[in-house]
Amino acid sequence: MAEELTELPAVAKSFHTFCKKCDVDRYHKVLAHTSATTAKIECEVCHSKKAYKLPSARKEAMAKARAARAPSANQRKSNHQTEYNDLLNSLSAMEEKPYSLKAKFEIANKISHPKFGIGVVRTVQPDKIEVVFSDEVKLLIHNRQ
Ligand SMILES: [Zn+2]
Repeated sequence: MAEELTELPAVAKSFHTFCKKCDVDRYHKVLAHTSATTAKIECEVCHSKKAYKLPSARKEAMAKARAARAPSANQRKSNHQTEYNDLLNSLSAMEEKPYSLKAKFEIANKISHPKFGIGVVRTVQPDKIEVVFSDEVKLLIHNRQ
């Protein structure tokens, strides 16, 4: 088991770390530092070259990526679902109008779209409507003469 490094070994020094090609821990020679936390290294047995990243930097990068990506995407998704469900509940008695380019829609109209399903008009411009569908909000054309 290789010990966890907290800083990069000097160039030309060797240290013990996992080699994917050998599938065991091997001594690797540091060829160059590519950043403060990454280096180019070479396995002393199979001579495969690879990029090495300090475990602490790797964990930090993974935590950052997780924080930046997943929760906000999930948050957006659940906010959208909540809005969609609330809109549909409040309009449950209304019949949906089939969507067409030539029809004219108003705010809070319920529409049925052949591709996107049932949606609710959120905002209206003279020639466009913003419609909340179950998966996403779409800008559609309406009132075309
Ligand atoms: Zn190797």
